[in-house]
Amino acid sequence: MRSPSASELLNIWERGLYQAPVHRALNLLAAAYPECSLDQLASLSLGQRDGLLLALQASLFGSQITGLATCPHCGDRLELTFAVADLQIGTRSDMPLETAAVGVKAIEAYTVEFRLPNSLDLLAVSNQFNANQPNVDQIRQQLLDRCLSVQQGARSLSVGDLPANVLEAVVAEMEQADPQANVQLALACPACGYEWQTLFDILSFLWSKLHVWARRTLQEVHRLAAAYGWRESEILALSAQRRQLYLEMIGYE
Ligand SMILES: [Zn+2]
Repeated sequence: MRSPSASELLNIWERGLYQAPVHRALNLLAAAYPECSLDQLASLSLGQRDGLLLALQASLFGSQITGLATCPHCGDRLELTFAVADLQIGTRSDMPLETAAVGVKAIEAYTVEFRLPNSLDLLAVSNQFNANQPNVDQIRQQLLDRCLSVQQGARSLSVGDLPANVLEAVVAEMEQADPQANVQLALACPACGYEWQTLFDILSFLWSKLHVWARRTLQEVHRLAAAYGWRESEILALSAQRRQLYLEMIGYE
């Protein structure tokens, strides 16, 4: 993995402002893994993708993750701090990039072959829905239709023909096969003692970090350009340390 330059990151951020999250993720990974084709990256399971995004998060913004959560019981605000390593489940940035895993689950009279959903599935499914009002149940149903093939004896069935308990067992197996796609944080409120779990979404976390970084960086470019008359590309080519020192010299902290 390589760390994208400041100028590449600003381009990804600017393009991503009007893109769906699945595109943002692919653009970030394409910049970090130029040795991989877009097709390879899009074929990674969502857990593999999130593992790489987590490694990119660490490389760009450090190995600590801090955020805020609200206690669902008393409404108190909690500050959270995690190490990236604690959220990584068996994936590393230097892992070989493989395409999504496939499995078979035989249960009752049914044999269900599955593969793990990837970005291509998300793209295909999200194109059919209004991005502003996604219907989570319909999206889930379509993803399952794409990723499962169901047999009862010699007969092919559709996913909708599976009894609910069989479908649940298959989905549980898929989640187990791709644990990085479903990272649950165990939280406890220090004010009232309430304990709960919440899903950690690395993509939205990384994107909000990038958003804050991009706006601050553009501010810095503006200050330095105004003070020294340098071009944007010249300022972005400076290391972060050097940029910081020049900002201090013009009294901008
Ligand atoms: Zn509480």
